[in-house]
Amino acid sequence: MSIQEPKAYSPPHKCLQDRVILVTGAGSGIGRSAAITFAAQGATVILLGRTVEKLEAVYDEIESAGSPLPAIYPLCLEGATEQDYQALASTIEQEFGGLHGLLHNAGLLGQRTTIANYQTQIWQQVMQVNLNAQFLLTKALLPLMKTVDDAAIVFTSSGVGRKGRPFWGAYAVSKFATEGLAQVLAGELDEVSNIRVNCLNPGATRTPMRAVAYPAEDPSTLLSPEDIMPAYLYLLGPDSRGISGQSFNAQ
Ligand code: NDP
Repeated sequence: MSIQEPKAYSPPHKCLQDRVILVTGAGSGIGRSAAITFAAQGATVILLGRTVEKLEAVYDEIESAGSPLPAIYPLCLEGATEQDYQALASTIEQEFGGLHGLLHNAGLLGQRTTIANYQTQIWQQVMQVNLNAQFLLTKALLPLMKTVDDAAIVFTSSGVGRKGRPFWGAYAVSKFATEGLAQVLAGELDEVSNIRVNCLNPGATRTPMRAVAYPAEDPSTLLSPEDIMPAYLYLLGPDSRGISGQSFNAQ
């Protein structure tokens, strides 16, 4: 298949068999769907998020589908410290030995207003969750990903992270920075590790965040999170081996 078209990927049966994959923001929207889809494809998924009840509901869905049982790891990415990320890494090492996939999916929309009116506290909150947490989590988990044969990191971007748009404030800036983080990291890991790093823009997708961002939009006109899973399976699975440092669209 063309590397320009991960969205057209037809995943083979159990394409993530025996992989351990961590998904942030796994309780809702795209992260929830990714966790359920990855598990159905044979992965053991670590469900990370800040709302335990939502993570438990995803756990129950995965269990009732007969997929490999996931692990729940409650963590608020806004307040988590370097020590918290180290504790997570130690737990994964003890429980699983290594990590094959990391999907940075959690995100906050923040305010939709001008830079002139943007509240500083909300700016910092969005940058902490959408950017700084990705740096801290990646830094803590890289050693575990280096121990496996084939590992993939996927960062979640956005259209407003590639071309700035008025009133999108910290969200847009954090997504530009996410693209930059992915490129820097991909270059550093290229040829010295088995870890590939790519960025994926989900595109307009029917989720709670989208409904807040576009309240007047008819949700039935949008693709669902399930519809955009082929690109996620491609970038986290073995068929994208050798592809790194690129930005893709999931639709
Ligand atoms: P949702 O709001 O449905 O999901 C976001 C997830 O992030 C939730 O599970 C939420 O947890 C979690 N999260 C937020 N803050 C924290 C935190 N402090 N600690 C831990 N977890 C946190 O949004 P989407 O599914 O739409 O978004 C997923 C990703 O896709 C985001 O990165 C978003 O920017 C991106 N995206 C989405 C698009 C779309 O059209 N939907 C378009 C382009 C990009 P909780 O539910 O507990 O609050």
